[in-house]
Amino acid sequence: MDDTSLKETKEALLKEKNRLADELLTIAEKNEKIADDFNSRFPNWGDDVDSNAAEVDTYSSRLGIERNLESMIKNINTVLEKIDKGTYGLCEKCGGPIQEARIKAFPAAIYCMKCSK
Ligand SMILES: [Zn+2]
Repeated sequence: MDDTSLKETKEALLKEKNRLADELLTIAEKNEKIADDFNSRFPNWGDDVDSNAAEVDTYSSRLGIERNLESMIKNINTVLEKIDKGTYGLCEKCGGPIQEARIKAFPAAIYCMKCSK
């Protein structure tokens, strides 16, 4: 991959990372001590039994969303590191090249088609 498309890929990934972080901030607080770590916010809708039950439900679904978005951010970080190290486009598992069509469709791919199964 040439330098221009590598730079464009990097910019697109950084943009995606910011978008994911913004999405996380709607349900969670940023952990100031650990980079790219978030803590789901516990909602407070009242002290009656129904409110408490709804709060717990919402909190547990927030935890699931948080985990999902955080792992997407982590994946982007891995890819950004690979770009800096010059190993972008190579599979993390077998070291072989990742198919170009796959990289184009999914720039955050870190495994080749064979290893991602
Ligand atoms: Zn592989």
